[in-house]
Amino acid sequence: KLIIEGLEKAFGTNEVLKGINFNVVDGEFLSILGPSGCGKTTILRILIGLEKASKGRILKDGQDITNLSPAKRGMGIVFQNYALFENMTVLGNVEYALRINPERKATARETALRLIEQVGLSEHMDKRPGKLSGGQQQRVAIARTLALNPDIILFDEPMSALDVDTRLSLRQELKSIQKQFGSTMIYITHDQEEAFAMSDRIMVMREGTIQQLDTPAGIVDHPANEYVERFVLHNI
Ligand code: ATP
Repeated sequence: KLIIEGLEKAFGTNEVLKGINFNVVDGEFLSILGPSGCGKTTILRILIGLEKASKGRILKDGQDITNLSPAKRGMGIVFQNYALFENMTVLGNVEYALRINPERKATARETALRLIEQVGLSEHMDKRPGKLSGGQQQRVAIARTLALNPDIILFDEPMSALDVDTRLSLRQELKSIQKQFGSTMIYITHDQEEAFAMSDRIMVMREGTIQQLDTPAGIVDHPANEYVERFVLHNI
């Protein structure tokens, strides 16, 4: 379980997060919705340790991880632009993270092959990422993230560069990966339909604050305020 308490972040005088509190339960799929610049990416970057909070703390399974290095947090992140190594093959990309870890090195090849199969890319494993479609590249990025066996996976608009059909099939794959690995997923999207279709709960943000955090049905039936109603339900 993840507990986020009083999270604040300022860049200079720009207060990007204004005291955020929320919990994420194990195995949950939580989406974050909100207009551009409201602080979604900043939350993910603080959670995984790429950015330091100005105030507040993060507890994971009872442990304060606020100042822990990213590698020790048991989290993985998948970015919109895949962030793959272009000079390595698909197999190389997935194997890389495993090979630099002494405990995983011996089984790196075997684990990488299994994960590549899991995301349906076995026949492409010797290709460079540049030779693959956007959806396939995102699958490589997902396999690479899974390789480190994170219990929490963060996604920063992973589908936004993909066409509709690819999005739909990746949606299902993500959900089945989640089931199989029992991972907790925190997922930023601009696609409200996607958030409603995939999520156990949805967080609606505005200017560094949480306006509502509820199940899709809860948000539809009882929007917390006019903003949520306008932004989420009328898509304005
Ligand atoms: P989008 O949907 O456009 O990705 P977002 O909700 O993810 O937006 P953030 O990327 O978290 O928003 O940015 C929130 C605010 O923080 C923005 O005003 C942005 O300019 C600012 N910001 C983010 N990172 C930095 C940084 N490294 N230095 C200065 N300002 C930053």
